[in-house]
Amino acid sequence: MAARFPEFRLGSVLATSFTGTLSERHGEPVERIPTPERLVDWLAVYGLDVRSCTPAQLERARELREAIHAAATAAAVGDPLPAPAVQIINDHSARGRAAAVLTTEGERRWQLSVNSPVEDALGVIAADAIDVISGERDGKLALCASPTCRAAFFDTSRSRTRRWCEMNTCGNREKKARFRGRAAAR
Ligand SMILES: [Zn+2]
Repeated sequence: MAARFPEFRLGSVLATSFTGTLSERHGEPVERIPTPERLVDWLAVYGLDVRSCTPAQLERARELREAIHAAATAAAVGDPLPAPAVQIINDHSARGRAAAVLTTEGERRWQLSVNSPVEDALGVIAADAIDVISGERDGKLALCASPTCRAAFFDTSRSRTRRWCEMNTCGNREKKARFRGRAAAR
């Protein structure tokens, strides 16, 4: 009965896709990982296969998510990074024991430990956030232009002029609003 839950918004950048599991933060927020099972489903989409997740682990995942959101938002607008958020990200990154492994098809897989797969998966996400926020990866953090969203996203376009976290949602809504505005003016 997955249809009961809000669909995932899947981006190509792990860390900012993770922060996108809570959307419309400045409007009517939509929680896209409302249950531990939905976190398991979300992780599976990104190749982080865990068999189960406890409510406490979901809480820690959300704490990491909000820390990444706070740090990425600060980085996007050029503010100093909030120290508590940085601490949470670093703790998760240090705790994770995931190993990147190469398949004979030349693909990367994440190998998580038997005893703490959820912590390992969160460690991978935290490390990805560190890459993106520190500027180690080619791209630029920016905030979505939608006033009800303001999600931090990672702009990898050549011109670095992307305005929305997602064209299909925020971008289209903005375009429709502009169209309605013009129609009303006529
Ligand atoms: Zn947006």
